[in-house]
Amino acid sequence: MTTWAPTTRPDDDVDDGREHDGAAGAAGGAVGGLLTVLDPRDGSTVGVVREAGRDEVVEAVRRARAAQHDWERTPAADRGAQLHAAAAALREHAAELATLNQRETGKPFEDSLGGVLAGADTLRQYAELGPLHRGRSLVGGREAADFTIDQPRGVVAAITPWNDPVAVACGLIGAALVTGNAVVHKPSERCPHVGELLGAVLAETLPPDVLVTVSGGGGVGAALTEQPDVDAVAHVGSTATGRRIARMAALTGAHVVLENGGNDALIVDGDVDPVWAAEQAAIGSFANAGQICTSVERILVHRDVAAAFVEALTAEAARRTEGREIGPLVDDRLRAEVQRQVDEAVAEGATIEVGGTTPDGPGSWWPATVLTGCRPHMTIMREETFGPVAPVQVVDDFDEALRLACHDRYGLAATVLTGSIAHANRALADLPVGTVKLNAVFGGAPGGSAQPRGESGAGFGYGPELLDELTLTKVVHYGVPVLAADGGHQEVRGASSAPLAARDQAAGQDSAEAPHGTSPAEQRAPGRTPGFHAQPEQQQQQADDDDDSTDDDVPLASGSTPHPQEPAEGGDPDDTASAGTDTGEDDAEPRVHPSSPAEGD
Ligand code: NAD
Repeated sequence: MTTWAPTTRPDDDVDDGREHDGAAGAAGGAVGGLLTVLDPRDGSTVGVVREAGRDEVVEAVRRARAAQHDWERTPAADRGAQLHAAAAALREHAAELATLNQRETGKPFEDSLGGVLAGADTLRQYAELGPLHRGRSLVGGREAADFTIDQPRGVVAAITPWNDPVAVACGLIGAALVTGNAVVHKPSERCPHVGELLGAVLAETLPPDVLVTVSGGGGVGAALTEQPDVDAVAHVGSTATGRRIARMAALTGAHVVLENGGNDALIVDGDVDPVWAAEQAAIGSFANAGQICTSVERILVHRDVAAAFVEALTAEAARRTEGREIGPLVDDRLRAEVQRQVDEAVAEGATIEVGGTTPDGPGSWWPATVLTGCRPHMTIMREETFGPVAPVQVVDDFDEALRLACHDRYGLAATVLTGSIAHANRALADLPVGTVKLNAVFGGAPGGSAQPRGESGAGFGYGPELLDELTLTKVVHYGVPVLAADGGHQEVRGASSAPLAARDQAAGQDSAEAPHGTSPAEQRAPGRTPGFHAQPEQQQQQADDDDDSTDDDVPLASGSTPHPQEPAEGGDPDDTASAGTDTGEDDAEPRVHPSSPAEGD
């Protein structure tokens, strides 16, 4: 039973806050207001949500910090099991969340449901991957080893968008939680009811405050990133916001992961079926009404197939609009921006083949649009257009297409449709993007990684590598402890060569194999600690050891309390030799410091 109650309910007749106050928020503006959410299908009110105030943001981070202490100490497998429970709870509430998602963002129900189920699958993937998230080791010699321990960063702020709100949030939340972080999630102001319900469903299966949700617009997001106790900020959203977050993180020292906007090119080579290519272009440009980060944003089509390609793409666009296969845009503000970019392109010489004008009637509907005669300098070719617009530019050959595709400030993804392995290979090598898609605009393995370039972001926001982003690596150099002979405490001298020399001499083995003029300790030292040079005191100790062939130097067996009388009592030379040999087989055994009272006995 979910205990979720929105800060105000969907359908409540509350008037009025701001409608998706992203504009003020994007600049890091207001907090503590009301968000009125309108259904983009008909403009009706979905509900009103109260934004968190600044003090609530501070309190959210404080709660998360407090909860993280025990969560970090919970075994990774247990954390994974709790994420599995969260995934199951999410599936139970999938239809409810999908309905809310459709009402708040206009995303068709089946697509919304697919996004929720993808979110549950992502949680399950991280539930499995988390306990296996492992460090590395480097062995530089028999006694020179580094290994690494991954530790949570602490409190992660997950700041997410509206266009696939559950799937995207689950990726960040799942990866952060399974690695022992606590999360403060700030969902998009365009779908705050989805965000609050998601938070309630997941939190139900988790310890209190390990996941805290704060509602609000960009101002609340900004207030969250300002908190000095936030260790990492993972943002999925626009490039402009990502830049603001990066600037703030430079002041707080938080680690940032940014998955931001794109301007993905689609190259249509001269040897492919133009009708198939048009189908691919339509999927890439029109899916989710073009509101996908990796939507096709600009099409570079070879002159040989251009006419047939444009004809097929135009027909497909018209069919999708007439069949109402395309949902509305998320709100009027976005629709106005799409219209502005199209109008500007037309003013600069582009031709509308189909669509291109805002329809009458309620809601934020916008038709699938094909533009031809586009040029690289046009805003529609240079900027992300978050709407179902396919801008086409005809090119003379593959070289021109590749050159234009590469010339961009974004670096999210690109698609190449070609039958030429040579062209495919050149595209793979040259395109300055995080993901290259060959002969399919969407696809790829579930759980796959992505590392955007340029203005599309920084770091891995997806895949197993996200576990690395949200953890800190501690490198461990292992040394050999030296025990005080009074039995009271141990002294660790990782690079000490003296006890080794003692052991070597007692064992009487290594010295026989040593190159002429080189003591066993000298042989070992460089390998154990690169660049290590014994200090004068240690050199003297080593010299003493080398000169001293008495049994006093023989290390004690591990686990026993060093006792001053032991060497004398156990003075049997055979026993001694055997003890020394054993020690040589087990380098991690504690040893008695040669200057302990045992020597003097
Ligand atoms: P957005 O950046 O406006 O908002 C995303 C989140 O950031 C919201 O929760 C918002 O409140 C918050 N935010 C806004 N201003 C902030 C500030 N100053 N400080 C902190 N947080 C702030 O983006 P959007 O409009 O919600 O989403 C659409 C964008 O997201 C598109 O550009 C799209 O390409 C991108 N996106 C990228 C990916 C990806 O994986 N690369 C995935 C989905 C969406």
